[in-house]
Amino acid sequence: MSATACIALIAHDQKKDDMADFARHHQDALARFRIVATGTTGGRVQDACPELEVTRLKSGPLGGDQQIGAMIATGEVDMLIFFIDPLSALPHDVDVKALTRLATVYDIPMALNRATAEKLIDFQKD
Ligand code: PGA
Repeated sequence: MSATACIALIAHDQKKDDMADFARHHQDALARFRIVATGTTGGRVQDACPELEVTRLKSGPLGGDQQIGAMIATGEVDMLIFFIDPLSALPHDVDVKALTRLATVYDIPMALNRATAEKLIDFQKD
Protein backbone atom coordinates (compact mmCIF):
# COMPACT_ATOMS: atom_id res chain seq x y z
CA MET A 1 0.00 0.00 0.00
CA SER A 2 1.32 3.45 -0.90
CA ALA A 3 2.44 5.85 1.81
CA THR A 4 -0.27 8.26 0.77
CA ALA A 5 -3.18 5.87 1.26
CA CYS A 6 -5.82 7.36 3.51
CA ILE A 7 -7.39 5.63 6.50
CA ALA A 8 -10.53 6.92 8.24
CA LEU A 9 -10.95 6.36 11.98
CA ILE A 10 -14.26 6.64 13.81
CA ALA A 11 -15.36 5.38 17.22
CA HIS A 12 -18.67 5.76 18.97
CA ASP A 13 -18.49 7.15 22.50
CA GLN A 14 -18.38 3.80 24.31
CA LYS A 15 -15.59 2.68 21.97
CA LYS A 16 -13.34 5.72 22.10
CA ASP A 17 -11.04 4.31 24.80
CA ASP A 18 -10.66 1.25 22.63
CA MET A 19 -9.79 3.38 19.59
CA ALA A 20 -7.20 5.39 21.55
CA ASP A 21 -5.65 2.12 22.73
CA PHE A 22 -5.73 0.68 19.21
CA ALA A 23 -4.00 3.78 17.83
CA ARG A 24 -1.33 3.64 20.55
CA HIS A 25 -0.60 -0.01 19.78
CA HIS A 26 -0.48 0.50 16.02
CA GLN A 27 1.04 3.94 15.81
CA ASP A 28 3.81 2.81 13.44
CA ALA A 29 1.38 1.19 11.02
CA LEU A 30 -0.96 4.17 11.17
CA ALA A 31 1.92 6.57 10.49
CA ARG A 32 2.12 5.13 6.98
CA PHE A 33 -1.33 6.52 6.19
CA ARG A 34 -2.88 9.88 5.79
CA ILE A 35 -5.35 9.82 8.68
CA VAL A 36 -8.78 11.41 8.76
CA ALA A 37 -11.21 11.05 11.65
CA THR A 38 -14.47 12.37 12.97
CA GLY A 39 -13.98 15.26 15.37
CA THR A 40 -13.97 13.72 18.81
CA THR A 41 -12.38 10.46 17.73
CA GLY A 42 -9.63 12.41 16.00
CA GLY A 43 -8.97 14.38 19.16
CA ARG A 44 -8.64 11.19 21.20
CA VAL A 45 -6.29 9.62 18.66
CA GLN A 46 -4.23 12.78 18.51
CA ASP A 47 -3.95 12.88 22.32
CA ALA A 48 -2.95 9.21 22.42
CA CYS A 49 -0.42 9.59 19.61
CA PRO A 50 0.85 13.18 19.38
CA GLU A 51 3.30 12.21 16.61
CA LEU A 52 0.52 11.24 14.23
CA GLU A 53 -0.96 13.83 11.92
CA VAL A 54 -4.74 13.54 12.12
CA THR A 55 -7.14 15.57 10.01
CA ARG A 56 -10.25 16.09 12.10
CA LEU A 57 -13.56 16.44 10.34
CA LYS A 58 -16.94 17.32 11.87
CA SER A 59 -18.14 15.31 14.82
CA GLY A 60 -20.11 12.25 13.67
CA PRO A 61 -23.56 13.45 14.74
CA LEU A 62 -22.89 16.81 13.08
CA GLY A 63 -21.98 15.39 9.69
CA GLY A 64 -18.55 13.80 10.13
CA ASP A 65 -19.73 10.35 9.08
CA GLN A 66 -21.22 11.86 5.94
CA GLN A 67 -18.00 13.72 5.19
CA ILE A 68 -16.09 10.46 5.35
CA GLY A 69 -18.74 8.79 3.20
CA ALA A 70 -18.28 11.50 0.58
CA MET A 71 -14.52 11.00 0.70
CA ILE A 72 -15.00 7.29 0.07
CA ALA A 73 -17.22 8.10 -2.92
CA THR A 74 -14.57 10.41 -4.38
CA GLY A 75 -11.76 7.91 -3.81
CA GLU A 76 -10.06 9.94 -1.08
CA VAL A 77 -10.44 7.33 1.67
CA ASP A 78 -8.99 3.86 1.10
CA MET A 79 -9.78 2.10 4.36
CA LEU A 80 -12.28 2.52 7.19
CA ILE A 81 -11.87 1.55 10.81
CA PHE A 82 -15.12 2.25 12.61
CA PHE A 83 -15.61 1.00 16.16
CA ILE A 84 -19.37 0.96 16.36
CA ASP A 85 -21.41 0.68 19.55
CA PRO A 86 -24.21 -1.81 18.91
CA LEU A 87 -25.70 -1.32 22.40
CA SER A 88 -26.64 2.37 22.28
CA ALA A 89 -29.28 4.27 20.36
CA LEU A 90 -27.63 6.94 18.21
CA PRO A 91 -29.22 10.11 16.83
CA HIS A 92 -27.22 9.71 13.63
CA ASP A 93 -27.93 6.05 13.04
CA VAL A 94 -28.91 6.74 9.43
CA ASP A 95 -25.52 8.38 8.82
CA VAL A 96 -23.77 5.31 10.19
CA LYS A 97 -25.77 3.12 7.83
CA ALA A 98 -25.05 5.42 4.88
CA LEU A 99 -21.33 5.35 5.62
CA THR A 100 -21.05 1.59 5.92
CA ARG A 101 -23.15 1.28 2.77
CA LEU A 102 -20.74 3.47 0.79
CA ALA A 103 -17.74 1.57 2.10
CA THR A 104 -19.44 -1.56 0.76
CA VAL A 105 -20.45 0.05 -2.55
CA TYR A 106 -16.88 1.22 -3.18
CA ASP A 107 -15.46 -2.03 -1.82
CA ILE A 108 -12.91 -0.55 0.54
CA PRO A 109 -11.56 -2.56 3.48
CA MET A 110 -13.78 -1.82 6.50
CA ALA A 111 -13.45 -2.99 10.10
CA LEU A 112 -16.42 -2.44 12.39
CA ASN A 113 -14.89 -3.93 15.51
CA ARG A 114 -11.46 -4.20 17.06
CA ALA A 115 -10.87 -7.85 16.26
CA THR A 116 -11.25 -7.16 12.54
CA ALA A 117 -9.26 -3.93 12.78
CA GLU A 118 -6.37 -5.85 14.33
CA LYS A 119 -6.32 -8.24 11.37
CA LEU A 120 -6.60 -5.40 8.86
CA ILE A 121 -3.79 -3.35 10.36
CA ASP A 122 -1.57 -6.44 10.56
CA PHE A 123 -1.80 -6.70 6.78
CA GLN A 124 -0.37 -3.18 6.52
CA LYS A 125 2.80 -4.03 8.39
CA ASP A 126 4.45 -6.01 5.58
P1 PGA B 1 -17.08 11.68 17.00
O1 PGA B 1 -18.08 11.01 15.98
O2 PGA B 1 -15.75 11.07 16.76
O3 PGA B 1 -17.07 13.15 16.67
O4 PGA B 1 -17.62 11.39 18.36
C1 PGA B 1 -18.19 9.62 15.91
C2 PGA B 1 -19.60 9.21 15.68
O5 PGA B 1 -20.37 9.16 16.66
O6 PGA B 1 -19.99 8.93 14.55
